[in-house]
Amino acid sequence: AKEMGRNNYQFYLTEMNESALQRLGLEGQLRKALERDELCLYFQPQYDLDGRRMVGLEALLRWRHPERGLVPPDEFIPLAEETGLILAMGEWVLREACTRAQAWQAAGLAPMRVAVNISARQFHQYDLVRLVRLVLEETGLEPHFLELEITESLIMQDAEGAVHKLSQLRDLGVQIAIDDFGTGYSSLSYLKKFPIQTLKIDRTFVQDLSRNPDDSAIVDAVIALAHSMGMEVVAEGVETEEQMRLLHDKSCNRVQGYLLQAPVPSDAVARILLQASLN
Ligand code: C2E
Ligand code: CA
Ligand code: CA
Ligand code: CA
Repeated sequence: AKEMGRNNYQFYLTEMNESALQRLGLEGQLRKALERDELCLYFQPQYDLDGRRMVGLEALLRWRHPERGLVPPDEFIPLAEETGLILAMGEWVLREACTRAQAWQAAGLAPMRVAVNISARQFHQYDLVRLVRLVLEETGLEPHFLELEITESLIMQDAEGAVHKLSQLRDLGVQIAIDDFGTGYSSLSYLKKFPIQTLKIDRTFVQDLSRNPDDSAIVDAVIALAHSMGMEVVAEGVETEEQMRLLHDKSCNRVQGYLLQAPVPSDAVARILLQASLN
């Protein structure tokens, strides 16, 4: 029996695929990334579609890996979410984003709203309301300068619970945006109950806006719906002037995308803010 056990073990090892081993390595490195200060935030400006004025910034997480260089979030956030590491990471992101936003204001730069992405686990398990209150107190950032981006699919996992939690966050005075709107399955009746100020149209709908009549119709519908409920609409992933023009014609409120500005490290933000105030 002992013999067989050993054989089984060997079998398991050879069958264990490379990606599983890679994942084990990645998890260990990810755990240390926080302690070693390897995480950093990039910021992507958002602009008002009317005057093309800069009105806010979205904080986007990056991992400065010692060997692999700058690792994009899609390559580590799913694992962080699975292992629970996202809780500590998300707390770091929130604190860092609010600290930076407050520091730019203190330096005399035009006050900007900062948007922070909130993961599913962070939203459902963590005492997010308490954390947000604490971080606002610590950093001194006025609540209306913080916007939390929460995905549509995340909210619909537990819509009743989400209404309650979003109301508590709203009571703190922070802004709430629904991210990746149109990719999930929101019930419109719930949308009315959510205390949200902004719908963010996913970039998959913006991509083919000029060629695909379905996408164009969806964007029209989302904007009409949002405006009828007193919400603003942000379009992400704007890469062409043509997309800008179409979104402007459709009365979209804010835009974000490579055409205007790719995400930049925090050091570059002050320069962009200064330039914006001179225009
Ligand atoms: P998202 O929230 O939908 O963010 C938009 C993504 O589109 C960002 O990718 C951004 O860099 C990219 N982007 C901006 N403009 C353009 C454009 O014109 N064209 C194209 N093709 N892409 C554009 P990024 O930074 O790689 O982030 C990917 C996703 O990772 C985010 O999608 C978000 O879901 C997640 N993420 C990023 N930072 C955080 C974080 O701090 N916490 C959590 N929980 N998730 C985060
Ligand atoms: Ca986002
Ligand atoms: Ca997303
Ligand atoms: Ca998106």
